[in-house]
Amino acid sequence: MTQRIALVTGASSGIGKATAELLASNGYYVFAMARRMHRLEQIRSDNIEPICLDVTNAEAIRTAVKHAMTTKGRIDVLVNNAGYGQLGAIECVSMEAAHQQFEVNVFGYARFMQEVLPHMRTQKAGCIINISSILGRISIPGFGWYAASKHAVEALSETLRSEVIKFGINVVVIAPGLIKTEFAAKEFELLETVAHPPAYQKLLTALPRLLAGEPQAPGPEIIAQAVLNAATASFAPMRHALPADSKTAVIARWFLGGRLFNWAIRLKMKI
Ligand code: NDP
Repeated sequence: MTQRIALVTGASSGIGKATAELLASNGYYVFAMARRMHRLEQIRSDNIEPICLDVTNAEAIRTAVKHAMTTKGRIDVLVNNAGYGQLGAIECVSMEAAHQQFEVNVFGYARFMQEVLPHMRTQKAGCIINISSILGRISIPGFGWYAASKHAVEALSETLRSEVIKFGINVVVIAPGLIKTEFAAKEFELLETVAHPPAYQKLLTALPRLLAGEPQAPGPEIIAQAVLNAATASFAPMRHALPADSKTAVIARWFLGGRLFNWAIRLKMKI
């Protein structure tokens, strides 16, 4: 049987790293991509080839996809995962920071999808797995720009799925809830860079409380397993939300309706 080939972005830590390692240990040849090459070198193996790349760099993405096609001849799976969370009140996050959030979380995914799709269409097969978030379907104060980027990922994925299913290409969204990675620490680093007037003090106090459960959250391996399942299943779910809180939050939003859900969130956050 020919070896299956996967591209995984954001593979230098967290979910991407766990995914690259799990796919490789299940027989895939993985092109593992991120900016921090020294971190990628730590997972280099016979089945993991690191590529140093920033997902905002269209030329670098083109070169990486071309390299994968030249050396391996096909791309079976794309895992779009590289991302970060720009915390801060919508009013206070600079337009530059908001643009950067979309450059990485949305256009970074889109650039990869546009590069691999012609090859997957020629192959008449392929699977694109986009890592979204619990905040791809709901939103909460302080996470507005991040949630907007993940809502965009969900919309693009849903549209693309219908556009390419007839070419034999599957598009899957995996929506994690809180997962223990470097993600939350980076969110708070970025929050420090946003100037908030005193009126937002309650929100700023609430945000660390909201993420206080992170040390007890599941590790990235559960998302990696969901990616492997989606990549190998002949009938993968269109959207897989996990752990359970990711699913229940969306159900609660649907059940309560917008006004009541928002009230409950403000009550929980004490803002
Ligand atoms: P980490 O911070 O641990 O990993 C993020 C990865 O993205 C790193 O490998 C980082 O690599 C890469 N990355 C960030 N910016 C760029 C860029 N411009 N170019 C290339 N790579 C980049 O976080 P997670 O593993 O938790 O996050 C992975 C995905 O999961 C994200 O899309 C996130 O939104 C999503 N998610 C995470 C949740 C959580 O609770 N952890 C919850 C819901 C969704 P480097 O810095 O080396 O470039």
